[in-house]
Amino acid sequence: MRPLIELRGVQRVYGRGGIAVQALAGVDLQIQRGEFVAIMGPSGSGKSTTLNILGCLDAPSAGSYLFEGVDVSARSRDERALLRRHFLGFVFQGFNLLARNSVIENVELPLVYRGDLARRERRSLARETLARVGLSERATHFPSELSGGQQQRVAIARAIVTSPRVLLADEPTGNLDTTMSEEIMDLLCELNREQGITIAMVTHEPEMADWAKRVIHFRDGRIELDTARAA
Ligand code: ADP
Repeated sequence: MRPLIELRGVQRVYGRGGIAVQALAGVDLQIQRGEFVAIMGPSGSGKSTTLNILGCLDAPSAGSYLFEGVDVSARSRDERALLRRHFLGFVFQGFNLLARNSVIENVELPLVYRGDLARRERRSLARETLARVGLSERATHFPSELSGGQQQRVAIARAIVTSPRVLLADEPTGNLDTTMSEEIMDLLCELNREQGITIAMVTHEPEMADWAKRVIHFRDGRIELDTARAA
């Protein structure tokens, strides 16, 4: 079957001439539907650049990015934004919730941007999604009233409320203690296993990568190792 995500010979060069930095030096990668992939590697090895390209926040300098078989590297900024809104979900290290909005409003926000549902439908979908991350009883609270782990769960609900094809996570447990980190990884695994959500997660913590089914190691802008793990 056609992969969900495919990078072919992707290069990314920042700057020009003498100061040019080659962040990615030819990356070939396929991710199938339903995979849970951890992306690891030392600082500066190209992890964030790869995640930004997968998330359509950036585009390759050379090579191509195929999403469901469609070459999106050749698309305009606006088209990539559309793809992001409809098919991709994001989770960040710092949660990035809106402080002045309630939990339920935060979860609802991507649906507001998408603009294709009436308010009542949006609310009910946001409620259902909040229940999936186990936070129904916190709907009317504000982010500052929640623990870090709970805030990240809200952020995950926000990321999946649009039923994205893939969830991209950048150090999702980087700001959490061990117990909360495990809770978050448990939730990501459950979403992957039970709801089939495809996940690509950047992490530098081996304990977090251990939860993934496949671990990709970057070094100097290339994939150095790509290992499938036993269930
Ligand atoms: P990682 O996420 O593994 O730490 P990055 O993908 O952020 O690595 O960076 C890869 C390389 O590209 C590094 O050498 C970094 O300094 C460089 N780089 C990243 N972003 C930029 C940028 N906006 N401008 C110039 N160089 C950059």
